[in-house]
Amino acid sequence: MATTKTLCPFCESPFVTRVPPASLMDTLATLISLHPFQCEACKKRFRIKQQGGQSSSGQDQRRKSLRVPVQIPVTFESNEVSGEGMLTDMSLYGCTLDTKQNLRSGLVIKLNLPASTAGKPNSTPQQLATVMGVNGNRVGLKFLAYSFQERDALTQTVTKSVKIFARDK
Ligand SMILES: [Zn+2]
Repeated sequence: MATTKTLCPFCESPFVTRVPPASLMDTLATLISLHPFQCEACKKRFRIKQQGGQSSSGQDQRRKSLRVPVQIPVTFESNEVSGEGMLTDMSLYGCTLDTKQNLRSGLVIKLNLPASTAGKPNSTPQQLATVMGVNGNRVGLKFLAYSFQERDALTQTVTKSVKIFARDK
């Protein structure tokens, strides 16, 4: 099956969400298969032509945030353990960490992402995350962001990360 990846036409972020029509023009546009979208990274709205979108197996695929396959070397620390690993996929809300360290569910860790993903030069972006589940070496993490500013910074970091470190198939 063909999965067409939708990218933001302004910043090329893969994190775009289909949104309800906000104007009469939006509504009219959907009649010719142009659907309104909003980019999570730059917040711009745009329309994308999507044919036969409603006929696809009746499931709502846009509800869950897109997970992008990546390969990002990271280190992490917590009050119990620290170590290193590899992020293997990433969404705006969490990621999968591949590591040999033993982490337990509920543990809060600080992830040190590569400097190239930072908004500012020569700073290491750190992100708090909590361990949601462990399956062998694979650890499911949920990003923690408490304020609008933190959520916004997280969106920028994730968007930048997946652009630099996306695995191609
Ligand atoms: Zn954008």
